[in-house]
Amino acid sequence: MTTAPVRPRCRRGPLISAEGLNGVGKTYLTNRAVEALSAKPLMLDEFSQRANGRPGLGEALLQSLREASIGDPFLRGGTPMAEALLLMAIKRHDLDTVLPDLARGQAVVEGRSVDTTAVCQALLLHPDDPDAALQTAVDLLGLASSFRPLPDLTILVTDDASKALERAQRRDRCVFTDEQAEFMRGACVLFERLAATDPVRYRVVDRRHVDEYEAAGQIREWIKGAGGELGCLVEPWQGPGAACMCCGQPISAVAA
Ligand SMILES: [Zn+2]
Repeated sequence: MTTAPVRPRCRRGPLISAEGLNGVGKTYLTNRAVEALSAKPLMLDEFSQRANGRPGLGEALLQSLREASIGDPFLRGGTPMAEALLLMAIKRHDLDTVLPDLARGQAVVEGRSVDTTAVCQALLLHPDDPDAALQTAVDLLGLASSFRPLPDLTILVTDDASKALERAQRRDRCVFTDEQAEFMRGACVLFERLAATDPVRYRVVDRRHVDEYEAAGQIREWIKGAGGELGCLVEPWQGPGAACMCCGQPISAVAA
């Protein structure tokens, strides 16, 4: 019996994202979760109004969104689709910066990924129609996945929107307007509904039901379990036969 040559396994690390509302505690809980891990993932800061000092093009694009939105905590400048495409470009930039790390097997946790963009921009496009916003969020994820691969695993941290709002206001020493608070409530519901559409990719930590120790413990286990047998990372805009973004082997040779 002849056997086909064995293709070396792709040894890339997992790409994990932490998502959720402002003030929900995703950065805090994720940091708590990884403290106790011996193999620490690489932590990539989230983009937000607050995030200053990111290097390079990502920061430059973010700065243009900040300027256009004149201090809005959700970077809203009045043109949701143009902003969506810029936010996706930032997330593509973030991925490009960590490709060498993923390729050598390092796990990467990005604070906020394309799901934040999908939720916030869908809500802006359909402020009064939750079902249309959900469908648009799913469609925007489809669009984002033509720019870059989606995360292997997405951890959504959720809570009562009012609790997240309190934390965000305390942390940022600001008072959100009624309109901003309403936007957060809409985003809270939409994040949870979007997560429910893809139980394979999402894990949900609901702070209404677990304390912070349990929440950090859950996140730790998910991050630990995200490695292992991962498929190659496909450049979405290239056809079959393109090389894996991490190991460089042609994708068509991969057993599905
Ligand atoms: Zn590969």
